[in-house]
Amino acid sequence: MADADLRRLPAVHLLLADAALASAITRIGQPAVAEVVRGVLDDARTALRAGTPFDLATIVPQCLARLAARHRLRTVINATGVLIHTNLGRAPLADEAVRAVTEAARGYVNLELDLTTGKRSHRNDAVKDDICALLGAESAVVVNNCAAATVLTLRALAAGREVIVARGELVEIGGGFRIPDIMAASGATLREVGTTNITRIADYEKAIGAQSALLLRVHQSNFRIRGFTASPALADLIALGRREGLPVIDDIGSGALVDYSQWGMTDEPLAAASLAAGADVVLFSADKLLGGPQAGIIAGKKSLIDRIARDPFYRATRPCKLTLAALAATLTLYRRGDWRQISVLQLLDQSMDDLRQRAQELASAVGGVARDDTTFVGGGSCPDESIPTVVVTIPGPAEELAARLRNGDPPVMARIHNGELLLDLRSVLPHEWDELKKAVNAMQEPRTK
Ligand SMILES: *Cc1c(COP(=O)(O)O)cnc(C)c1O
Repeated sequence: MADADLRRLPAVHLLLADAALASAITRIGQPAVAEVVRGVLDDARTALRAGTPFDLATIVPQCLARLAARHRLRTVINATGVLIHTNLGRAPLADEAVRAVTEAARGYVNLELDLTTGKRSHRNDAVKDDICALLGAESAVVVNNCAAATVLTLRALAAGREVIVARGELVEIGGGFRIPDIMAASGATLREVGTTNITRIADYEKAIGAQSALLLRVHQSNFRIRGFTASPALADLIALGRREGLPVIDDIGSGALVDYSQWGMTDEPLAAASLAAGADVVLFSADKLLGGPQAGIIAGKKSLIDRIARDPFYRATRPCKLTLAALAATLTLYRRGDWRQISVLQLLDQSMDDLRQRAQELASAVGGVARDDTTFVGGGSCPDESIPTVVVTIPGPAEELAARLRNGDPPVMARIHNGELLLDLRSVLPHEWDELKKAVNAMQEPRTK
């Protein structure tokens, strides 16, 4: 029955000569395109054998659709309004950091070499002094992310012993990563104290024993408990640690280096403030509020940092030259006082008037409506402190429009709220404005044809 149809299916090599597929071959290579073509032909054969009608004219479009849907890293325009979006790679780098990465990537660097003496040095030296100066820390070490910073710190300072932590701070960071699991991975034993909403200093006091290695505080990051709550002030925890001879480790999550309260975010601890208050070690991510590359910063007392940096696990979590180049350049911007060049801060610092003007422009170009709205900074920071923004709403079926924008070139990530498609301009970088306008126009074209 379908044998004649089966025989009419084109051969792989003929399909690969198709102009659109040939252009895909120049981009990603013949084997990858041939694999997709074979997949589509296999499905066509299966359909024909089952007696399902199959339109040969759809073969090339299907191949193109599958090629487009392949998961690969692409730059996308973030019009969600969430400035630090983990699914979108968190903080975009400042131009100077981008240049530093490019240069380091293109050639060799003195990653572990002291150019004055010609002797071997430590890769950490590229950023240590700047971190210490910015935080008022004795020493610092950098690893791949803050989760690694936590595991490494607990391993080096508490493996086989107990870490005392408040029950209300046993957070899940996102993507299923939970503080208790991270602790288990470190070989330290979790000693939970207090209750979900109330933990008092006496709870920590009671739990301290011969097995205690340290007191851990974890910033609640992505959630808040409201109502009848109590947790000891950092100062009280530090006083207790001093009395008992136990170090206090403060996992603040998002390492703010400037005061975010100027943008209405009053809930973010400053990394320097934690050390100034007497925390022995502070841990935070470099790609959240700091606005740098993915990395975890461990800073504090030299004696403890030395133990952490000597732990064999450091070797498994050490950052590469690209990360260190980007981080060093980002830290330099802070030290020069040029933090407005750091993308996250630049986006946050845009005035509502500027955003309104741009939104008006975009709205008239794409037939949308501009209005004021609110958004969140993201990245587990200030989950209940919104920041002002301006959005452009696009009329039409929101889910379908969002899908078209996602599949455009460049892909645009929008926000859907109450069945409405919103383009939030707070998180769109200045160099992306024109591209955004074009992408929205292109997305609307099929509708008007
Ligand atoms: C985000 C966060 C982490 C994990 O940081 P990564 O850099 O994503 O590994 C750890 N602790 C807290 C409190 C956080 O907010």
